Amino acid sequence: MPRCLLVSNRLPLAFNSKLKIFTPSSGGLVSAIKGLDPVKVGYDFEWMGILTNDISADEIQKLKTHPVGNLPCHPIIVPKMLYDNYYNLYCNNVLWPLFHYERNMVRHSQEGWAAYVEVNQTVANAILDEAKDTDTIWIQDFQLMLVPGLVKEKRPQLKVGFFLHIPFPSSEIFRELPQRKEILTSLLRCDQIGFHDLSYLNHFRSSVQRLIGEVPTSEKTWGVYPISIDTEHFKNLAELPETQDWIAKYSKSKKKMKWILGIDRLDYIKGILLKLQAFRHFLKRFPEEREKVQLVQIIIPSRTEVSQYKNLKREIEQMVSSINGEFGSPAWMPIQYIYNSVCEPELSALYQLSDVLFISSRRDGMNLVSLEYVMSQNDQYPGVILLSEFAGAHSTLSYAMSINPWNVTDTAMRLKEALHHPEVKRKKEMRAMKDFLTNYTSSDWAKVILRDLVIESKKTEVVKQLPEHGKFDWMRDLKGKRVLFFCDLDGTLAPIAPHPKDVRLHDSTIDLLQEISENKNCEFVVVSGRDKEFLEEQFLDYDFNFPLAACHGAYSFSPKDNLWHNLIPHDSTKWKELVMEILELYTMRTPESFIEDKGHAITWHYRNSPREFADFLANKLFFELEEAMTGQPVQVNWGKKVIEVKSIHANKGYFVQQWIQGQSQKPDYIVAIGDDTTDEDMFNVLQDRKDIKPFCIKVGKEKTDAHYFIREQNSVNLFLQNFLESVGH
Ligand code: UDP
Repeated sequence: MPRCLLVSNRLPLAFNSKLKIFTPSSGGLVSAIKGLDPVKVGYDFEWMGILTNDISADEIQKLKTHPVGNLPCHPIIVPKMLYDNYYNLYCNNVLWPLFHYERNMVRHSQEGWAAYVEVNQTVANAILDEAKDTDTIWIQDFQLMLVPGLVKEKRPQLKVGFFLHIPFPSSEIFRELPQRKEILTSLLRCDQIGFHDLSYLNHFRSSVQRLIGEVPTSEKTWGVYPISIDTEHFKNLAELPETQDWIAKYSKSKKKMKWILGIDRLDYIKGILLKLQAFRHFLKRFPEEREKVQLVQIIIPSRTEVSQYKNLKREIEQMVSSINGEFGSPAWMPIQYIYNSVCEPELSALYQLSDVLFISSRRDGMNLVSLEYVMSQNDQYPGVILLSEFAGAHSTLSYAMSINPWNVTDTAMRLKEALHHPEVKRKKEMRAMKDFLTNYTSSDWAKVILRDLVIESKKTEVVKQLPEHGKFDWMRDLKGKRVLFFCDLDGTLAPIAPHPKDVRLHDSTIDLLQEISENKNCEFVVVSGRDKEFLEEQFLDYDFNFPLAACHGAYSFSPKDNLWHNLIPHDSTKWKELVMEILELYTMRTPESFIEDKGHAITWHYRNSPREFADFLANKLFFELEEAMTGQPVQVNWGKKVIEVKSIHANKGYFVQQWIQGQSQKPDYIVAIGDDTTDEDMFNVLQDRKDIKPFCIKVGKEKTDAHYFIREQNSVNLFLQNFLESVGH
């Protein structure tokens, strides 16, 4: 089976310094991943994660040879001080609160960011050392958001996926992050990015749009994959004799009382104070419920040394004792409060015995407790879930009762409803949620993600980047061969300018084009989306003797007769009137946008328009044009800040096909280079040829059908220079 290196902040182990042993650690991410079935997912998983250097080298060595749990582990050693700065000062003081909308908890520091960069680099280095080209690298969560960029920088062909286990906040919040660009740029290098919830993906998308400028075509590789749990494990756990013992023990004290269960890690995101306020309101509003219900609130200790958490614990305890003091009696305590972890059989017993699970998170990436609750329910006496609409699990658990935890009075009403939810409904609803989870386990979650990751990275797998010395391997074979070379203009031969009319070839490019034009072994053709007049301005002042293709190949200029030839068979342009009519309405509303009529294509440009507004209108325009043009001999394309409607014959792919057919002598090689989506048409057509091997080169970083890429336009000259040397004269 192929190997998947699963990389997370910590290894799923805790080191017991007294006993000098590693023990498996718990937590949401760990419990989901522990449940992965390698056979079902189709991968051999190996876990890479950080251990700090306060653990002796001997112990770490033992761990390497005798992994704990079912996964081989690769510890990445980080100095303890550095780790603490990275984890406390950046992960916990900045990213965690900001991503959970707790802006007043954010504490920025240069020291924190520096440590975050350093630790992410250490993790990236460890991956680069360990990974084979055939491995899939799956990076987990917000602690490692710079790792994808650092890995891809060195080995762009490695398959790298990223999953975010916490919410991605609204772009209004995210844009406050000082290091927002560094983080987005790194994440955008991934072959695939996964989120728990569609809202998180939408927020990510709008952050990219606002902060980077445009959403890359690789957007289609971002997905929503709500995490699941090891459902079989929780089903079995419910039946274990130990669990039954706990049930017997608690049943005695519970008697006829209804239990409302709260299981939360100590964290401000869990909304525990809001839950207590709602419970207090419930007891006031419904006195008849007193002595009939009890809130069993388990708080799992977490980040115990951090003052914000200590304060939260104190506030919770004060409120618990105030509610117990106000409503309790010697015979009845409204709240049973437990500040401790519970073992799995006890947890399962609590899930089974309680009548309502009460989740009041202010924000929660997913919330696995609610899923575990479903899988632990007894089909005869199922409970009800009261679930905050701010938890990711809200999209998975379709029959949970929604609450807005900020609305304390309404939550109290919902709690009353939940406690009296009719048995028939409870059974039907819990059954439906259980069936869903039975067919969607954590292994299914991983399987779908890794499948998408591999499909999406197929293209990257074969794409090779221009080496620093400027020569691809295949260029060694070009000497003395006949090469047919199709070359795009904007973004390839010439850099993109703020206004398309300002695009100009650099002097050094003109010199290279002169040499190419004189080279006997190379037949060079400029294939551009521009109109005839623009190409004339750019090229005809010089002594080049290569042909030009305008309007994506609708016209070609031959230096032999100095004439433009119309290459489109039947010139049907009736559609133009309708397109113009629509475009004018949009141009009127969008500042700095304009229409360019290229003959066989009409282009709407909005590069200099207010970014978000123009993107929004472009989206609408694209769909409007697609609908209006149904049945017309045209194609509607959305390129880099342009929307273009063009005759289906004005297509670079169609053009290169016709051009090759018209050749009296077959070339030995074909080279095609371009940066935009319209150049992909050319790459597509060429890739399908069996007779001549094409070398298609993408300029840029986006997904492509080309097999090679040159990252920056300003490296194209270096490539051309090396190309000329390779073909010889
Ligand atoms: N859990 C635990 N110790 C306990 C009780 C529960 O580790 O004493 C587990 C629980 O079973 C669940 C996880 O902790 O798998 C909590 O995950 P969740 O997504 O609900 O919250 P997180 O802690 O990840 O924010």
